[in-house]
Amino acid sequence: MKIVFIGPQGSGKGTQAKRIAARFGFCHISTGDLLRDAEGELKAEIDVFLNKGELVSDELVARVLKGRLSKGVCEKGFILDGFPRTVSQVEMLRDITDIDRVVEIVIGDDESVRRLSGRRICEKCGAIFNINTSPIPKVEGVCDKCGGELFQRNDDKEEIIRKRLRVYHEETEKVLKMYSFVRIDGTKGIEEVEESIVEALGLELS
Ligand code: AMP
Repeated sequence: MKIVFIGPQGSGKGTQAKRIAARFGFCHISTGDLLRDAEGELKAEIDVFLNKGELVSDELVARVLKGRLSKGVCEKGFILDGFPRTVSQVEMLRDITDIDRVVEIVIGDDESVRRLSGRRICEKCGAIFNINTSPIPKVEGVCDKCGGELFQRNDDKEEIIRKRLRVYHEETEKVLKMYSFVRIDGTKGIEEVEESIVEALGLELS
């Protein structure tokens, strides 16, 4: 099954995409992760957009996405997390592959800001904590798992989050008009949201 997850920043779409992909054997393809993991000159070009909370140009997104799709065979299908985000990306995707289902995960803007401004990431092992929700690190600024230092993503600062949300409402909500989709309430707990998605998509272990 080929699935697209759409939702505002902090809606948990990345968390849910990861959990559901692992549970049902899909590839999890996050354009945000692919862009953040870029290296060398490409990284410098991408960071200009990321640090301002702007969408990365279609040309750069297409480059990292095509690189990823050419690498792995996703026999059971994939979950696209964070793509397409604009009308032109929907058109780009149509040239690459068809999509079976689209899921929108919804939360309000203030909840987005609360969740994202609390996000802290371990620079050493990549574990994710949240000082406003959970898991709260036991010692401030220190990773519970490996003792590494926790940092805040540049684009998780409140001003940048608000800008990313504006882009979401202006650009990405138009994408939803181009598909039929199921809407999921993202304000519930992680397990509850996961089960709502599984049920809405009729996913079963094969
Ligand atoms: P995310 O981790 O999905 O919130 O993405 C983080 C940032 O990566 C976004 O704010 C954009 O700057 C960039 N990004 C991710 N996916 C796309 C996309 N499909 N098109 C353009 N920029 C993207």
